[in-house]
Amino acid sequence: MASSDKPWVIVVGAGPSGLLLGLMLAKKGITVHILEAAAELDDSPRAAYYGPPAAHALRTAGVIDEVRKDGFDPVIMCWRKLDGTYLAGMDNSLMNDDPDRLACMPLAQLDRLLYRNAIEQPTVQVSFNHKVVEIGQDENKAWVDVETPEGSKRLEATYIVGCDGANSIVRRKLYGDWEWPGYTWKEQIVATNVAYPFEKYGYDDANFFIHPEHWHMVARLTKNADGSGWWRCSYGEIGGLTREELIARQPMKFKAMFPGSPDPGQYDLAAINPYKIHQRIADSMRVGRFLLAADAAHICNPFGGLGLTGGLVDIEGLYECLVGIYEGKADESILDKYSEVRREKYKTIVDPISTDNVKRLFTQDPEKALENDSFLKLLNDIKDDHAAQIEFMRSPMALMYDFTQHYKGEETTTGHSDPAKNGVSSHVEQVAPVGAE
Ligand SMILES: Cc1cc2nc3c(=O)[nH]c(=O)nc-3n(C[C@H](O)[C@H](O)[C@H](O)COP(=O)(O)OP(=O)(O)OC[C@H]3O[C@@H](n4cnc5c(N)ncnc54)[C@H](O)[C@@H]3O)c2cc1C
Repeated sequence: MASSDKPWVIVVGAGPSGLLLGLMLAKKGITVHILEAAAELDDSPRAAYYGPPAAHALRTAGVIDEVRKDGFDPVIMCWRKLDGTYLAGMDNSLMNDDPDRLACMPLAQLDRLLYRNAIEQPTVQVSFNHKVVEIGQDENKAWVDVETPEGSKRLEATYIVGCDGANSIVRRKLYGDWEWPGYTWKEQIVATNVAYPFEKYGYDDANFFIHPEHWHMVARLTKNADGSGWWRCSYGEIGGLTREELIARQPMKFKAMFPGSPDPGQYDLAAINPYKIHQRIADSMRVGRFLLAADAAHICNPFGGLGLTGGLVDIEGLYECLVGIYEGKADESILDKYSEVRREKYKTIVDPISTDNVKRLFTQDPEKALENDSFLKLLNDIKDDHAAQIEFMRSPMALMYDFTQHYKGEETTTGHSDPAKNGVSSHVEQVAPVGAE
């Protein structure tokens, strides 16, 4: 696409959601301009595990094989006491024949993979150092004002999608800086990338530790042939501490949490980043020609991996809606349906399940967890029943929704599985965590 052309869609943000949307739309011949404020793709330690409905979105975009080749398929996900005692778990290898099984790849690597695939498309342009600072729209078009090293400019499109993350300027301009219904947890988390021989201590691929003070999660990020590799450790911290205070406490936390109580020098710490955690969703994911998707629209705490998984499902849905309009198969009301359905999925699945996932780690007595925690009890009840385990691990497919059913007078065209039609329960209590965090 020539830089002077007006694209049909502007996507704000070259994170995973923006890059995936750009790639998917471009594969349908739609012109897309992706605007990224930073000079390069983000490299902070965040998502790594993508559940079945996210794998489906990556498959629709034609990149899941590359994700599996360069990443890996995690096997056991389990819950333990701080001393390592195994409580309950599930075996993802039972889903080995399922093309939409859980996948693992550090987010920075996924971003680069999506970027590589996106820029191969002739109708995609990605502009770094393009920071959106203002937005507007009228009957015929929408626009963004952008700051660039060469000065300010106004860029127009038929639709503009805010994929600009939790601090989204698009959302803040639509609703105001402080209007994001929901709440912030008083607990904070610290995410680290670390090399330490957890495999020698019998750790599985993803391990959640239940403890009132030292609750945490240790999950593989990369897997070498000898079983070694990088691991993500994300742990809970008390609220109110500054970034510097949190970072200063890291050696004490690792010593208390890790088997062998290591001191600095006995592990390799490649990245550390404290995060506040939130449960929030915008009042609507559509305002005229502006759409919101993924973290720009809604966020949740990362335990159980529902953040980007939910975000990538938004993207597949929005892709279906925009393609429907572009190809004359749907009218604009499909965008209201997008907002209605995606918000409902957040409220009935992402928010309650991610809340349970994190509370499970620090609000109960680990000694009594097997007696009291209905989720752990369910895992143990189905531990020898492979069919039930598979059904449970597929339950996050309930996040999906087939928007092509709202095309004018058309049957479903994408062959995309609508869990509601395929008999996968969407009952909240039956939806499994989809990833390590
Ligand atoms: C510690 C941690 C672990 C996590 N683990 C998982 C996991 O295992 N599985 C999972 O599903 N989710 C996980 N998540 C959540 C996941 O990382 C996020 O949901 C995901 O990164 C959101 O992607 P996004 O594309 O919506 O936004 P982002 O990744 O935040 O990308 C937004 C992009 O927009 C750009 N931008 C911002 N403002 C502007 C502007 N004004 N103009 C132009 N560009 C702009 C930013 O620079 C950025 O590149 C985790 C989160 C954390 C914090």
